[in-house]
Amino acid sequence: MRSYQLYINDEFVDATDGRTLTSINPFSQEVVATCARAGAADAEKAVKAAREAFDNGPWPRMSREERAALLRAISDKISENQKLLVELEVADSGSTIRKAKEDIYLSARNMNSFSKLALLDLQEHLESVSRPGFSRNLLVREPIGVVAAIIPWNFPLKMAIWKLGPALAAGNTVVLKPSEETPVTAMELARIIHEVGIPKGVVNVITGYGQEAGADLVRSAGVDKVAFTGSTSVGREIMAIAASTLKKVTLECGGKSANIVLEDADLALAVDGTLYGIFYHQGQCCEAGTRLLLPDSIADQFIATLVEKTRRLKLGDPLLPATDIGPLVSRKQQERVLSYIETGTREGATLLVGGSIPEDPALARGFFVEPTIFDRVDNRSRIAQEEIFGPVLSIVRYQSVRDAIRLANDTIYGLGGGVWSKDPQRAMEVARQLRTGTVWINEWHLLNERAPFGGYKQSGIGREFGIDGLKEYTEAKHIHIDEVGTRARKSWYDIVVPKS
Ligand code: NAD
Repeated sequence: MRSYQLYINDEFVDATDGRTLTSINPFSQEVVATCARAGAADAEKAVKAAREAFDNGPWPRMSREERAALLRAISDKISENQKLLVELEVADSGSTIRKAKEDIYLSARNMNSFSKLALLDLQEHLESVSRPGFSRNLLVREPIGVVAAIIPWNFPLKMAIWKLGPALAAGNTVVLKPSEETPVTAMELARIIHEVGIPKGVVNVITGYGQEAGADLVRSAGVDKVAFTGSTSVGREIMAIAASTLKKVTLECGGKSANIVLEDADLALAVDGTLYGIFYHQGQCCEAGTRLLLPDSIADQFIATLVEKTRRLKLGDPLLPATDIGPLVSRKQQERVLSYIETGTREGATLLVGGSIPEDPALARGFFVEPTIFDRVDNRSRIAQEEIFGPVLSIVRYQSVRDAIRLANDTIYGLGGGVWSKDPQRAMEVARQLRTGTVWINEWHLLNERAPFGGYKQSGIGREFGIDGLKEYTEAKHIHIDEVGTRARKSWYDIVVPKS
C-alpha cells in the first residue's frame, strides 16, 4: 500500500491535524493508498505558498522560453513514468488498462502542447482609435495570480494536466485539489513537478474532500481564480461561494449530449460509434453520448445490432487487456447509477439490455453495473434529462430532423453532441443548430488540443485548450501611451481644468 503527503511549498508534509483518507481500488476494494486529508489550515498554507511564489517568486517573471522548457520537462517525465502511472490509474479509478494507457499518453502529449502555448506572445498593438499620432495602445495579457484548480475522478491525471498546463503556461501559480476518489496520480505528478525543479510554491497539491479542502480553497481571499471541473451542482455552489470575493471562475461541468443518427447514416459505423460514445469508461465521461436520437424508420434495425453488440461487451478485471468494461469508480456511483435504472423503469421506458449488477462471482467485489440501454424514453423524463454518469443509454425516437434538433437542444446542458450521416452537408446543417460546445460528425470523444472545449448553458463557463483556454488564465490590460505631447493640444483637459 502506498502513502502520500501533501505537496506544499516544494515540501511533502502531513496534514496539520495528521488526518488521512484512503483510496480504494474499485475492482477489488483493496486500499490503494493512504493520503493526507487536508483541512482549512492546509488549504491556507498552500494558498500562502502560491501567493508568495506569485507575488515575489521567479515564475511569473521568467521568460516564456524558460517556462516552456519546464513544462516540457514535466511532459517528458510523465512519459518516462508511463508504466507506473498506468498501473496506478487503473488501480485507483477502475479505468480499463486500454483507456488508462491512452490517458497517460495524452497527459504527456497535452502537457507538451501546453508548453508550446507558453511560448506565445499574446501582446497586441491595437489600431489607434482616433487619428495617428494621438496615442499608441497595447493589449497586454498577464497572469491572474493564484489559481485553485479542483478536478473530478474520471480522468484523474489528464484533468490535472488540463488545469496545470494552461495556468502555468500563462505564468500563474496553482493549488491543485484532486478528487478524494482518485488522489494517487496527482500526487505522483507532484513528485514529478518536484523532480523537474519547478520553483518553490508554484505548484501545490493538496488531497482532501470537496466540502473541506475544496470549499476552503474557493473561499480563500488569497485565491484569484477557481478553475473547476466536476458536476453542475457543485459548479453552482462554487460560483456562489466565489461571488463573495468576485473571483474569476471557469467551470467545466456535466452534460447530457445528444447523439443524432440520420436516416442515411453508415449503420455499421454509427452503431460502433454509439457504443464508443456511451460506454467509454463505463459512461463516466462528461461529454458521453447519453441520449441516442433515432429516426423511427431505422430504429428497430439499428437497435437490434446495438443490443446484440452490447451483450458481447466483456466486463472484467480492468488490468486485463481483454476487458471492455471495468467497474464504476465507487460504491456510491454504483448505487447512483442503479437508482437511475430503477427510475427509468418506473418512468415507463423499455429496458432492452443490462439493468443490474453482473452475476459473475469473479466480479462480485467490483462496483460494476451492466451496460444498459432503455428504448422509448420520453425526452422530458429524468433519465433523458439528468446526468447519470454511468453505462446507461437512453433512446429517444424521432420523426423528422427538425424534431431531432429540438429534442437535442431540450436540455439544461450543452457540452457535446454528434451527428451520423453519409452526407456532410446535411450533417453540417444539423451540427450548426446544436446549442453545444463540441459537435462530432461521424465521430465521438476525440478532442483537438487547438480547439476550445467547454459548455454552453449549464455545462459550464469558459473553455479549455487552445488560445481561448490560455486566455482564461490571463487578465487583459490596456496600456495607453500618449503621443499628443503638449498641454496646449489637449483641449479635453479644459472640461475640468480651464486653460490659464
Ligand atoms: P463533483 O462535482 O462531485 O466533484 C468534483 C471536484 O469538486 C472534486 O475534487 C470534489 O472534491 C470537489 N468538490 C465537491 N464539492 C465541493 C465544494 N463544495 N467546494 C469545492 N470543491 C468541491 O464531480 P465528480 O463526481 O468528481 O465528477 C463527475 C462530474 O464531473 C460529472 O458531472 C462530469 O460531467 C463532470 N466532468 C466534467 C468535465 C468537463 O470537462 N466538462 C470533465 C470531466 C468530468
